[in-house]
Amino acid sequence: MEFSFNEEERIFQESASEFLKRELRPIARKIDEEKRIPMDFIKKFASQGYLGLLNSPKLGGAGATLKMAAILAEEVGKNDISLATAVFYLLNTAWSYILEKYGKADVVEEIIPRLVRGDAFVGICSTEPQGGSDVASIKTVAKKIDSKYVLEGEKIYISEVREILDNDGGLLTLVKTRPEFKHKGISMIFLPLKKVKNFEVSYLDNMGRMGISTSILRFKGTEVEERYLIGEENRGFYYAMEGFVTARILVAASCIGAAESVLERGMEYIKNRNAFGMPLAKYEGIQFPLVDLYSKLEAIKLLVFKAAWLYDEMRNGRASYREVTKYSAMSKLLAPKLAIEVMEEVMTWLGGYGYTKEAGIEMALRGVLSYYVGAEGAANIMRIIVGRELLGSEFVPYKE
Ligand SMILES: Cc1cc2nc3c(=O)[nH]c(=O)nc-3n(C[C@H](O)[C@H](O)[C@H](O)COP(=O)(O)OP(=O)(O)OC[C@H]3O[C@@H](n4cnc5c(N)ncnc54)[C@H](O)[C@@H]3O)c2cc1C
Repeated sequence: MEFSFNEEERIFQESASEFLKRELRPIARKIDEEKRIPMDFIKKFASQGYLGLLNSPKLGGAGATLKMAAILAEEVGKNDISLATAVFYLLNTAWSYILEKYGKADVVEEIIPRLVRGDAFVGICSTEPQGGSDVASIKTVAKKIDSKYVLEGEKIYISEVREILDNDGGLLTLVKTRPEFKHKGISMIFLPLKKVKNFEVSYLDNMGRMGISTSILRFKGTEVEERYLIGEENRGFYYAMEGFVTARILVAASCIGAAESVLERGMEYIKNRNAFGMPLAKYEGIQFPLVDLYSKLEAIKLLVFKAAWLYDEMRNGRASYREVTKYSAMSKLLAPKLAIEVMEEVMTWLGGYGYTKEAGIEMALRGVLSYYVGAEGAANIMRIIVGRELLGSEFVPYKE
């Protein structure tokens, strides 16, 4: 059993930490207030090789492991505790990997090298107004007419649309190509937003992770060339699930990073703040919850890195997809919840200061709540996935 990073991973972590402390941490509040991640930061981030980490070197990517990608997710979460930059990073990392793995060669070559340079972005477009958890019941349809797909339907809570429209790229969009079927009638189509017409966008005003947009998309006869179909028709559900399994590990790592950062800030504060004649850190009423939270954080961090390690084992044929799915879901279930616990507790240590924007805890809390309520999959869905693995699919509370 190996619990340490190898030399390459350690150097990668140190240089990412140094870069992000210098370039990202000072602008985290500005990102939250101005509701965008500055393009000059994205360009610098890309120039470090941090976009397209999982993509192949032949396309300009780093061909890295998911463990490396999780190391970076943790560091990004530590340095922009609003999690906006982490969302941006992990969406592009996980979903560009799916695009490269299953997309047609010309589409992959059109998008990935530009994503690596920070000129084009990729996201996922699955959720619909009638519900996001039950992916198999989506209603958006794509009819094949000559060499095009024509889309009708509505998607909601879609991240990164503004960023794609301001630059370039597209969304891996789930559509029904056989509406009479549930998950076996779903296809995934890459929608290059700047190249397609006949759709409307409106933006939602979220409570957190303000630096990345969230939108509603209405497809009204949106036409897209058939070459943008990802993989095979009616296999889109499976590609999406693979993307979620990948993304959830990175989500969990970024929540751990934000929680670590907040806990460190809290520790600094309690060592320096006196009450009743001595530092807060000396009171067991403060120190014991700190120890409990730190211990849980270490335990869940190990779980998250085990999930990342298993994912890489799976890519090398040494672990099963179902095992990875279970670990990914457990990580996504536990990490956001624990991050919230950390943030709530630290906020109380800081007293009145904890309630100010200057302290920054509210920004972290607003961000991590997005992963608690459901971005990249709601908590009960994670429980359903793990329960299915533990008890067998006959105990899943619904039939597909
Ligand atoms: C900030 C943000 C960004 C997002 N970005 C994207 C994006 O880029 N692309 C995208 O496609 N989606 C995105 N989403 C949507 C997200 O994936 C969905 O919110 C999530 O899948 C849950 O769907 P829902 O909101 O429709 O809730 P519902 O599916 O209606 O679920 C509501 C609640 O019921 C629970 N529930 C549902 N089914 C069961 C069950 N069988 N048993 C027990 N409990 C159940 C859920 O756990 C949840 O708590 C984003 C969401 C947020 C908040």
